Amino acid sequence: MKFEAIAVEKIPIIQKGDNLSSIICERIELQDRDIVIIASTIVAKAEGEIFRLEDIIPGEQALEIAARTGKDARFTQAVLARSREVFVETPFMLVTTISGHTCVNAGVDESNIEHGFLLYSPEEPDTSASQLGEKLERLSGKRLSVIITDTNGRAFKIGQTGVAIGIYKIKPIKRWIGEKDLFGKILEITEEAVADELAGAANLLMGEGAGGIPVVVIRGLDYYFEGDASIKDTYRPESMDVIKKGLRCLREKN
Ligand code: GDP
Ligand code: MN
Ligand code: MN
Repeated sequence: MKFEAIAVEKIPIIQKGDNLSSIICERIELQDRDIVIIASTIVAKAEGEIFRLEDIIPGEQALEIAARTGKDARFTQAVLARSREVFVETPFMLVTTISGHTCVNAGVDESNIEHGFLLYSPEEPDTSASQLGEKLERLSGKRLSVIITDTNGRAFKIGQTGVAIGIYKIKPIKRWIGEKDLFGKILEITEEAVADELAGAANLLMGEGAGGIPVVVIRGLDYYFEGDASIKDTYRPESMDVIKKGLRCLREKN
């Protein structure tokens, strides 16, 4: 058993309006059932989610948070602009984004972008993934899955990993419930976060710095799913999210 992870080389610095799907197809011959993994950074650049820090005008809430935390009010405003709920203000802003992803700083990034600029995360990454996937399929004539990734920290553990924030034609979760273990016992609760695992694998080739590898193709794994898929299927329903409940309690106390 094996699979391949292929870095797509020589992708230029992406600018607003760039056609990512043709840029990718010009650099790799895609095959049926390839999983095209794309860093959110270049999706955001292509979508024009680039803002000059000095142009951002902080609102009242951003000014309040910045006064409490000592953070840059304009950066705080950028995070709030993409957040629907703030759980933690300091030492980092932990938020749920408008699209429902819970992460630090709403994915607003200062790295791999020119000095003085901020890169917002794609606003609806599932939609971005579908649009890219449909174009990639049309250009290549192949059946493909797409995962848009970002680098996220983890609760309880040091170190960040690649995670899936938007998907196309892949089920993000593999249910093991009902399968047997080595000793014939029926598995009762295990669900494997395959989209996140693939994002993590791709991130090994992307890295976080000047590597210039924002696209990785995973070949040889059969996760193609001909149907509607959403990363939102991986977000724990509010009623079952004990960590968010705990964070809300803490927030109300402070
Ligand atoms: P994120 O995880 O989506 O926030 O993306 P990162 O900033 O960690 O970048 C992931 C990879 O993409 C790294 O190898 C970067 O060097 C690379 N990268 C970021 N922007 C560009 C770009 O515009 N062009 C190219 N060729 N690589 C980029
Ligand atoms: Mn990022
Ligand atoms: Mn990264």
